[in-house]
Amino acid sequence: MSDFRAEVREWIAANLPDSIRTPMPEEEIPWGGRNASFPNPQSRQWLEAMIAKGWTAPTWPAAYGGGGLDAAQAMILQEELERANARPALFSFGLWMLGPVLLEYGTEEQKQRFLPPIVRGEIRWCQGYSEPGAGSDLASLRTRAEDKGGHWLVNGQKVWTTYADKADWIFALVRTDPAAPKHQGISFLLIDLRTPGVSVRPIELISGSSPFCETFFDDVKVPKENMVGPLNGGWTIAKKLLQYERQNVSAVGFGGDRSVRIEDLAKQAVGEVDGRIADGALRNRIARHNLYDRAVDLTTRRSQIDTDSGSVGALTSVVKYASAKANQARGELAVELLGLDGLGWSGGNFDPRDLAETRKWLRSKGNSIEGGTSEINLNVISKRVLGLPD
Ligand SMILES: Cc1cc2nc3c(=O)[nH]c(=O)nc-3n(C[C@H](O)[C@H](O)[C@H](O)COP(=O)(O)OP(=O)(O)OC[C@H]3O[C@@H](n4cnc5c(N)ncnc54)[C@H](O)[C@@H]3O)c2cc1C
Repeated sequence: MSDFRAEVREWIAANLPDSIRTPMPEEEIPWGGRNASFPNPQSRQWLEAMIAKGWTAPTWPAAYGGGGLDAAQAMILQEELERANARPALFSFGLWMLGPVLLEYGTEEQKQRFLPPIVRGEIRWCQGYSEPGAGSDLASLRTRAEDKGGHWLVNGQKVWTTYADKADWIFALVRTDPAAPKHQGISFLLIDLRTPGVSVRPIELISGSSPFCETFFDDVKVPKENMVGPLNGGWTIAKKLLQYERQNVSAVGFGGDRSVRIEDLAKQAVGEVDGRIADGALRNRIARHNLYDRAVDLTTRRSQIDTDSGSVGALTSVVKYASAKANQARGELAVELLGLDGLGWSGGNFDPRDLAETRKWLRSKGNSIEGGTSEINLNVISKRVLGLPD
């Protein structure tokens, strides 16, 4: 065993609280932010320990609070955390999406200002990309930022802004040159959601609750220094951020809880013989599913190593496409196995976790839409990976 692995293993054994070695209930997900709450105090203890090591952002430079690890060390850390069944210390759009592009495109002042609070989970970020008329065709966005000398004046609307009602800041794409070709008139702006003129309205779904919001900007004054990258140069940053997003939603399994193994669910549903699922055909299906899942997982890790080495690229579209498929297939299989019990919203003959499976199945429907739809990712793969003509 390498010295580093031994050191990490020892540190985890000494610092990982017992309750953090269990599957994470949704209400305990540590999102951080100004209004962070820790229903389980050991989540805070774990977060603080990880922050002290810089391991919430293992590969970011220590100067910004990160761990300063190289890609190989980061992989060892990840493997050891998984080995110990450690929950992630922090869930954060800042860590997954904004931070990596700030490291590449931000000014030194922006890095100093925004990266350490992301590492420490002090500011919760949301993503202001989609608009009512701009989803897959994102470059058609119309939210406008006008140069008013001392500040930008932002007007417009975003939609499907996940957790905007809980976030502190938003990274947003805005149109700064309406006359330019659409990809060339976009800039990347950081906006404090407490600024006068910003309003957020949760979108109510049929289930009664929703993580989504509409986000409105009415004459919002944004300081000049909050623009990342050059004026009208936001599209390059936007695309790069999407690659990090695709990498990370795949790596965290779309937030899906895999603590219940599909083979255990099958045994529970159809019974077992000699420790094996009773139905041979089902056994085959599950084996095929698990093989696919494992292949996706390994490809995601390979892509993670590229990302940690600073060469994030179109492979992220492959892992995003494939992991969305895997997560959706898992959901389908789970509710099929549970039969009528899997369709109930409450009650049923099985463990209450079955309903969690139903919720996961419903949630997985969005996996092939969020972070770029499957069709859009297939387009990226055909152009950037396979080099096919338009
Ligand atoms: C769970 C979830 C969370 C999200 N969170 C956020 C967020 O935090 N911030 C944010 O900004 N957005 C967020 N979104 C929005 C998401 O990015 C968009 O929904 C997505 O980009 C698709 O855009 P659209 O919904 O407008 O669909 P459309 O672009 O209208 O697409 C409709 C259909 O047409 C297909 N299509 C469109 N263009 C093409 C093409 N050129 N070739 C082939 N097929 C095509 C699409 O694949 C899709 O099937 C979220 C969405 C989901 C589901």
